[in-house]
Amino acid sequence: MRLWARATAVRRRVLCLWLLLLGFALVTLALSDLLNRDRDHSRQKPVPPLRPLQRIPNAPDLEVIVDSRDPALELGVDLAPLKSLQEDQLLFVPSTQDSKNPPQKKGSYKVLLPGANKDTRPPAHLTHGEMGKAVRIHLEGMERDMELSAVQKYGFNEMVSERISLHRRLPEARHPECLGGQYSESLPSASVVICFHDEAWSTLLRTVHSVLDTAPKPHLQEVLLVDDLSQHGHLKSVLSEYVSHLDAVRLIRSTKRLGVGGCRTLGAARAAGEVLVFMDSHCECQKGWLEPLLERVAQDRTRVVSPIIDVIDWQTFQFNATQWPVRGVFDWRLNFYWESNPQLQDKESDSAVRPVQSPALGGGVLAIDRHFFQSVGAYDPGMLLWGVEQIELSIRVWSCGGSMEVVPCSRVAHLDHHHLPYHFSDQELLQRNKIWIADTWMDAYRKIFYRRDTLAHFIRQSESPNNTERLQLKKSLGCRNFHWYLSTVYPQLYIPQDRPALSGELYNVGTGSCADYPRGQGLRGGAMNVAPCSGTGSQHCDLNSEFEVRCDPMGALCLDAKGEMVVLSPCPIHRPPTSRFQWKFIKLSGQLVHQQSQLCLEVVKEGGLPQSSPKKVNTHARTGGLFLRPCTHHPRQQWHFEQLVSPKDA
Ligand code: UDP
Ligand code: MN
Repeated sequence: MRLWARATAVRRRVLCLWLLLLGFALVTLALSDLLNRDRDHSRQKPVPPLRPLQRIPNAPDLEVIVDSRDPALELGVDLAPLKSLQEDQLLFVPSTQDSKNPPQKKGSYKVLLPGANKDTRPPAHLTHGEMGKAVRIHLEGMERDMELSAVQKYGFNEMVSERISLHRRLPEARHPECLGGQYSESLPSASVVICFHDEAWSTLLRTVHSVLDTAPKPHLQEVLLVDDLSQHGHLKSVLSEYVSHLDAVRLIRSTKRLGVGGCRTLGAARAAGEVLVFMDSHCECQKGWLEPLLERVAQDRTRVVSPIIDVIDWQTFQFNATQWPVRGVFDWRLNFYWESNPQLQDKESDSAVRPVQSPALGGGVLAIDRHFFQSVGAYDPGMLLWGVEQIELSIRVWSCGGSMEVVPCSRVAHLDHHHLPYHFSDQELLQRNKIWIADTWMDAYRKIFYRRDTLAHFIRQSESPNNTERLQLKKSLGCRNFHWYLSTVYPQLYIPQDRPALSGELYNVGTGSCADYPRGQGLRGGAMNVAPCSGTGSQHCDLNSEFEVRCDPMGALCLDAKGEMVVLSPCPIHRPPTSRFQWKFIKLSGQLVHQQSQLCLEVVKEGGLPQSSPKKVNTHARTGGLFLRPCTHHPRQQWHFEQLVSPKDA
């Protein structure tokens, strides 16, 4: 008992001592802050808060609002860096010794990941030379491991990003004619809304600084950072602290995970600028990017505009300029693409600097009038966390009285992820969002989608989206139908015929595999392959009434032959197509006959080459695939169009 009492007394004394020390530290901090504040105040007048907090009474979805111009923050009572050290196990080391100076012009901060200070000592039995080598190898190995885990965590090489200045300047990529551009002084003001969920420190802050470094002050109302319930430690108090030093930057946090659209709608509701610029949390702006966007929106408030989106490489962080002209499109699987296509360019002399209308725009950077955004229905709250919200907004903007375009004198680079860095509990999230679009906007054309995404089709059979409110909105806004959208806005999109027995997976009897289109080549096409039948609808082909076989989800590529090799090439513009692009399907024998050569489509197995492979055809890199061969009744020349979705369902 006595021992226990003594131990308690000792513990109490230690506790007192700690409390005393803590009190002392707090008093010192408060004093030094007061002193510094007085010094600061003697230099500059206090700035009234831009948007007083009272404007958002009892906002239930907000946890913290940090406004760089909020005087409450200038009290310096936030012991952010210390606190975050404990809660996040992150070591946050400012490169500057002077913690009172705002860090924005100083650059590099370093975030050390947990585990970075693992025991790195080599085993003791090594000689001195061996030790050096072992340490080096060990450290190199560790660095590689850390790089790998950084890539896994973020979908890009965050360690490379860490080494790059937060203020780096992109190489000039604008057309020379853009450089002398004069813009009206009375351009509308912009709120740049940057939503983020678990973004890396370096990419997030480089985005913020890049906006601050490039947007002219008179036009930049604010940068609004919206934290979509991030979990990573560095995005907590350390970020609040950092942001509180930046002029015109505000941080709001959601206490609910909202997803891309929801988060942007929240930001829009809190924004004060006339024009909203939604920007991903991993972008870098080219000088002069904002003015051309604002000008186009000022001229027509229903115009939604995007800069040319250049690409930051996920591995090297190198800048890759996107080729102009470019516009946003989507295919029948409802996947979005940027399409660089010289045919979009007209012959006019100013075409290099003139905006191009675009059937859709990506979500990376988007400028839209704030009132128009609200009146057209913001981002659709019925859609789930991530994916295809940009396609939904695009169809809606166009159908309900607006327009979209890419403005070439404005350029912003976006970091393309290697993979999606988020884990969603709903595996079919993307399909559900696509179903939402199909059922809300596509009318009868949705069948074309469901045939090419059978997972979506089967989900749709067991559940219906609850989109009545959006259908009502569509009605009350007087939006046009999808037929109008296709014929007026996006007439280049091929409308498949999908006739029974002449469309579906192109199944080969001899091998039990399916014809498979070349991916990742864009509009260039490439050699046709065979692959295990996926059953997902991704291998869907359509033999149309002009005898073309189109197998890509855009329907822009046609089955064609280069010598004996069967390829997909851009479909001919002229109608009717020449016999080079025409195929006849003989149902009885299952043969697909190439009309120009009168040869049959055959699968050549891996390792085997066609017997009569002509020398002039470059087949050296190929070990199998689809070839033209004299017609026989061999099962490798027998085909079926397998319909995955029965016509009565779709
Ligand atoms: N984002 C978000 N909440 C989410 C998922 C994403 O706020 O649940 C943010 C993300 O940090 C990024 C933007 O929304 O700034 C778009 O997401 P992402 O870059 O992953 O989309 P992608 O560019 O790959 O289409
Ligand atoms: Mn992105």
